[in-house]
Amino acid sequence: MWYSLNELEALGRRQAQLNGKIEIGRLTRLCELLMSDKGSVSASFEFSQQGVDRTTVDLSYKGTLDLVCQRCLESVTEEISGRVLFVVLEDDSMVSSAPEDHEPIVLSGMRCQPAEIVEDELIISLPLVARHSQIDECGSLVKGPGVLTSEDEVGLADPSFRGH
Ligand SMILES: [Zn+2]
Repeated sequence: MWYSLNELEALGRRQAQLNGKIEIGRLTRLCELLMSDKGSVSASFEFSQQGVDRTTVDLSYKGTLDLVCQRCLESVTEEISGRVLFVVLEDDSMVSSAPEDHEPIVLSGMRCQPAEIVEDELIISLPLVARHSQIDECGSLVKGPGVLTSEDEVGLADPSFRGH
């Protein structure tokens, strides 16, 4: 679904709510950063109107992503959730007047797609370093013989013991 400025403003006037579930596989830019396209994200957009003609959107999302564990390079499922406030703007010149705690959605004569807004938000909020919370959950790469099994052991290795 794509929404024009007028349509978004109409949603704001009647304080509409859009709920949907997005398959991760549809979010192609996000998928490039993931281990696989498994998982989905539920999103809820609550529209409202501030003042005479300012449309705001309260986005909440929750879902699971399949990321690459940076310790064992196997798949790790991350629970993600968040809430962001947006303000709908007609063009760039209005950005400076936007409320500071709202992210701008600048239409510039275009239409916007809620799924794309969620995708942008997920890309921004991806964990920089994903990994299994417990080393036991990690795959064979870190469990193989002769490979360090814990980061802590790296720090504990005492150089003074070498050569004895
Ligand atoms: Zn791992």
